[in-house]
Amino acid sequence: MKVVLATNNEGKLSEFRSLLEPLALELVGQAELGIASVPEIGITFVENALAKARHVSALSNCPALSDDSGLVVDVLRGEPGIHSARFAGSDASDVENNDKLLALLANNKSSKSRSAHFYCALVFLRHAKDPAPVIATGQWYGTIATEPKGTNGFGYDPLFFVSELGLTSAELKPEAKNRISHRGQAVQELCTRLAPFI
Ligand code: IMP
Repeated sequence: MKVVLATNNEGKLSEFRSLLEPLALELVGQAELGIASVPEIGITFVENALAKARHVSALSNCPALSDDSGLVVDVLRGEPGIHSARFAGSDASDVENNDKLLALLANNKSSKSRSAHFYCALVFLRHAKDPAPVIATGQWYGTIATEPKGTNGFGYDPLFFVSELGLTSAELKPEAKNRISHRGQAVQELCTRLAPFI
């Protein structure tokens, strides 16, 4: 089955091709079809993922898959949340986003007051007006460290401390992260729920 992935990011396309290999889908990126991105104006990850999937499905006339993810910090009322990629400004680097997060949490000394989770929403639509989208989510709980550690991963990984492992996400090997991360959990749920349709 041909499915359009709602992303212009080549890295994400190849990551999803490998994660969804068991489903034997033909995953095509929206850029290959000349589809521009839709503005992300939702308030939740699920709303943004739904809007992206609906947009590419309508323009391609194919089933579509989309994802939206980010970091949710409890004491910041969920920020950076859906603004995770652009937390410190529209062209902000990962380091700038991490620095802003550390500055906002400077007065929160206890690990309890630095609790956070990564959230991932995946949406699959059979067609643009599908009234029953398949929605799979994953949450990965941890705390925000007081300084960055580790060189793997991207985004907030160097600050995301996983207490059970005593390591930040950036200190985990990619395979270890994928087994337990928000994205890994959501992909596993999606594979289980999509299998009957494919
Ligand atoms: P996207 O929706 O996957 O593009 O993620 C949006 C932003 O959330 C990224 O630019 C990162 O800042 C943050 N983010 C999402 N997932 C992760 C992760 O696994 N590690 C670190 N940061 C993440």
